Amino acid sequence: MTKLGRQIGIGPTDNTSDQRTPRQRLRLIPEAARASFVPFVPARYATRAHEWDLTRISPDRPRATGSPIEVTGTLKTESGTPVRNALIEIWNANHHGRYRHIEDQSGLQLDENFFGMGRVLTDDDGNYRFWTISPGAYLARPDIGRWRPKHIHLSISGGSSRLITQMYFPGEASNESDPMAILMGDAFQRNIGKPYETPDIDVDLGYQFDIVVGGRNATYFE
Ligand code: FE
Repeated sequence: MTKLGRQIGIGPTDNTSDQRTPRQRLRLIPEAARASFVPFVPARYATRAHEWDLTRISPDRPRATGSPIEVTGTLKTESGTPVRNALIEIWNANHHGRYRHIEDQSGLQLDENFFGMGRVLTDDDGNYRFWTISPGAYLARPDIGRWRPKHIHLSISGGSSRLITQMYFPGEASNESDPMAILMGDAFQRNIGKPYETPDIDVDLGYQFDIVVGGRNATYFE
């Protein structure tokens, strides 16, 4: 196989870098020719009724350990138009800071009542709502002692686009030293959920996280 450019292997067992290495020079696609975020969702995004509530694996199961929180917001375009029918998926670590994922080798406690992922479609006004458990911070790099502040991962899909971002929590000690936050620069403030009181006794606190696709005030996407 012809090899162009430098090969970057992910790890000692990785043998796929050939396929992931571009064969041709990279070219920048002009802004005007790039795909826009189209608020069209194919039928395969059929969500189930309780997938918005991560605090229970199913409605008949006990509540997961930790502080239940609400996360709500509106998905908007650059001009402020709400985007309906976009698929929003979230995932976060459990109360102890552990993901239910094969790559989470932290050894921290799993919670049999916390699956850690949920998804919804935005409604006609572009709104979404989740309940989840307030995530624990976790030691992302034990070798250098680097913690990740508590955060929720979000994926926004519409048409052929998929955007990934993270919602942070205000006032967390390790926010400022977080590598992602440093990368975001000024945009970091827009990725912090705004706390609000909720009369709903089933959750301790709400966080508003509006997501803006495109423009100067865009949410930071990875
Ligand atoms: Fe994470």
